[in-house]
Amino acid sequence: MQYLIGKRTFVLEQGDITTQMVDAIVNAANSRLMGGGGVDGAIHRAGGPSIMQECRDIVSQYGRLPTGEAVSTTGGNLHAPYVIHTVGPIWHGGGNDEPLLLASAYRNSLLRAEHLRLVSIAFPSISTGAYGYPVGKASMVAIETVKEFLTASARSISKVVFVLFDTSTYTSYCHAAREVMSTPPH
Ligand code: ADP
Repeated sequence: MQYLIGKRTFVLEQGDITTQMVDAIVNAANSRLMGGGGVDGAIHRAGGPSIMQECRDIVSQYGRLPTGEAVSTTGGNLHAPYVIHTVGPIWHGGGNDEPLLLASAYRNSLLRAEHLRLVSIAFPSISTGAYGYPVGKASMVAIETVKEFLTASARSISKVVFVLFDTSTYTSYCHAAREVMSTPPH
């Protein structure tokens, strides 16, 4: 499913983010950038050990990555030249700033990509796996944040892809997009 925001595109698809042909893929990392299961494990397996080495260097220089922040490494063996690592919030019932922190994870990843002057970026569904954020709520935050970002002027990013791994997550994001976007899909 694809939407246009001015001249920029915003795409929802089901699949594996590690095979995306974009300038950067986003990793739903943990604050120690240590590698784990889920999308993080898949990215490190596909990208090879150089990404983990860069992650270790970042943590030893700057410390743990706070929730909602983002850093970048190169993409190792991936098609994407960059990986942007961000930390989404762990769901604790919704009263601990989870929506604000999730929006920050998306926004700071996009800002990191802008800083690198990138044109295309792919996101997984941050926080909705091991971190337990309900996907119906997370998809609304994700799409609202990306829409707001792409609506602003003077952005290098012209394409944002959400790569959703399973059918129920994909369906949730499609529903959220219909709610949030004022125009029908293209
Ligand atoms: P978090 O710890 O932020 O919840 P997870 O990696 O556990 O992150 O899950 C986030 C989402 O990423 C889940 O919807 C999961 O199904 C999905 N996912 C797992 N592997 C991949 C992959 N290769 N490509 C895209 N999404 C993936």
